[in-house]
Amino acid sequence: MKSTFVFFDLDNTLLDHSSAEKSAQKITHESFPELQQVSLDEWLETYRAINHRLWERYQRDEIDRYELQKTRFSATMKSLNLNPEKSSEIGATYMEFYRTHWQWVTGAKQALTNVSEKYKTGIITNGFKETQQLKIEQLKLKSYCSEFLISEDVGKMKPHPLVFDRATEMAGVPRDQILYVGDSYSSDILGGKNAGWRTAWYNAPAVDQLPENRADITFSRFDDLLDFLDV
Ligand SMILES: [Mg+2]
Repeated sequence: MKSTFVFFDLDNTLLDHSSAEKSAQKITHESFPELQQVSLDEWLETYRAINHRLWERYQRDEIDRYELQKTRFSATMKSLNLNPEKSSEIGATYMEFYRTHWQWVTGAKQALTNVSEKYKTGIITNGFKETQQLKIEQLKLKSYCSEFLISEDVGKMKPHPLVFDRATEMAGVPRDQILYVGDSYSSDILGGKNAGWRTAWYNAPAVDQLPENRADITFSRFDDLLDFLDV
């Protein structure tokens, strides 16, 4: 069975979230002297670990997005023995810088262009609604894609089946004709497979090897995805 609808994940599949996060944290670190009691590397590493754990709690509905956004900076500062007094201001500053550093993942813009000329396409993304909408506008994704699903609108995050069921309705084609392209094995590939979709795993650094890889194709260069889709 051939795919007729292709959904893409957004962060770290089309938009280089990790680089934007790193650049924004660098300027944030430079802007607040209280942060410079620790090195940028130490700050970034601690922030990423704490942010990751908070996202997992958000995914399990244990905290809401406001608590996530508030806590990730205060908890990072406390864990590094920094005074968290200005953590809200620092968090808001980071978000402003983050929004000015969004760029395409290498090869992704051309790939989306080619794929969208031959297939119906859409976006499924976890994340904060306003931020993800701004990303969609900034990358002009509406000129390529017809369907957009932000997990906050569903009330559940990938890999929850509700997200994939809603997206299946939006695509309006049988499940086995949908291909999902994403970088997260647990959220995108397993979520897609459990929904009866086909999946393409963008494993960029090609470092994650799994004993049982359920993706239909694993690629680290978008050219390989284009070959797979014959575009
Ligand atoms: Mg992603």
